[in-house]
Amino acid sequence: MVAPGFVVVGSGPAGLTAAETFRARHPKIPVRVIASDPAMPYAKPPLSKAYLCGRNSKLDLHSAAWFTKHDIQLHRGITVEHIDLEGREVITAGGRRHPYWHLVLACGAAPVPLSVPGGDAALPLRSFADAVVLRMAAKNSDSAVVIGGGLIGCEAASCLAALGVATTLVAPESVPVQRRFGSEVGERVAKMLSNSGVRFIGGTRVTAVSDTEVALDTGTTVPADLVVSATGVRPDARLAAAAGLDTAHGRVVVDERMHTSAPNVYAAGDMALAYNVTAQHRVPSEHWHDATEQGRIAGLAAAGCPAAWSAVPEFSCVIGEHTMTYRGWGSGYEASSIEEDCDGFTVTYRCGDEIVGVLRVS
Ligand SMILES: Cc1cc2nc3c(=O)[nH]c(=O)nc-3n(C[C@H](O)[C@H](O)[C@H](O)COP(=O)(O)OP(=O)(O)OC[C@H]3O[C@@H](n4cnc5c(N)ncnc54)[C@H](O)[C@@H]3O)c2cc1C
Repeated sequence: MVAPGFVVVGSGPAGLTAAETFRARHPKIPVRVIASDPAMPYAKPPLSKAYLCGRNSKLDLHSAAWFTKHDIQLHRGITVEHIDLEGREVITAGGRRHPYWHLVLACGAAPVPLSVPGGDAALPLRSFADAVVLRMAAKNSDSAVVIGGGLIGCEAASCLAALGVATTLVAPESVPVQRRFGSEVGERVAKMLSNSGVRFIGGTRVTAVSDTEVALDTGTTVPADLVVSATGVRPDARLAAAAGLDTAHGRVVVDERMHTSAPNVYAAGDMALAYNVTAQHRVPSEHWHDATEQGRIAGLAAAGCPAAWSAVPEFSCVIGEHTMTYRGWGSGYEASSIEEDCDGFTVTYRCGDEIVGVLRVS
């Protein structure tokens, strides 16, 4: 039986930062990170940007030597199947039990499956392994269809087009990123995509995927050697919900210190619905920077240090030559205004008199 310690489920930014932060405060307590992903921990944002575009990009977050130096055990390719809250253990495949004093859940989010005939053949883009497969497939493809007009769909489509693949982006909204940023921004993003060589077909749903084409509900088909599914992600709170932790809207409910409804159990990152002290309510977030910050707070709280989530969520995205940077609560708006300048434009989102988000595109 291994000694109990600080156990983290997940090697993404939330899990890794929690482990690193806790270790910095407690050099003697065992720290273990258990992750189903077999890869060394890596940065996800470049997967749909520089890496997919075929450019050199540094993905590794830490080397094996770093883990040894900081005495953090990293168990890769191992899935946690149950949490025993009473016994304070997590149980991995094969029934191996890992006792904990403090547990941080950082399971991230999983892609929403494309549930149409042949949908399994569409490639997802969530992990390093997915990105490797996609990059290889792009080399052998003349045409591609990307399904989903969100940020990752737009990024992936512009990269594939830059690689010389005739790329079509298909989405149910009339313009890309419409749900998040509105029609006016969506029209500009459609133009950016078109300038990058991407054909956009909006207001349509995919009804089937085959080896050579994608069928649309308009009755037409689009040729595709390669199909990418970018239909969004779902927070992965299954493990936590099965253990009996409080959840809401598919996420684990945590306070401003990332503490869940169970003693000594924390959750951070995409899977968490955390209380933000600036917003004064719980804010869902699926961004790298926020996952890192929430992991830091979970690590500090578990180490007995004061910490509270107060940062305003933020992220950036790259479509062709353009960078979009957003800072805000991301929870809808009543009005928006656009200001042009020589480098691009800025959109301010408001609820009443209050600014709830700012998007900069340059
Ligand atoms: C292609 C791509 C591009 C992105 N681009 C951006 C961007 O430009 N800007 C931005 O802000 N955000 C971006 N994101 C989102 C960002 O990467 C996520 O918000 C962030 O990774 C969430 O971190 P996390 O630690 O919560 O979870 P993740 O990074 O998803 O890590 C989850 C971890 O949990 C492990 N796990 C899950 N279940 C189990 C289990 N049962 N047992 C053991 N291990 C388990 C997984 O193996 C993984 O290690 C992008 C995401 C993707 C996929």
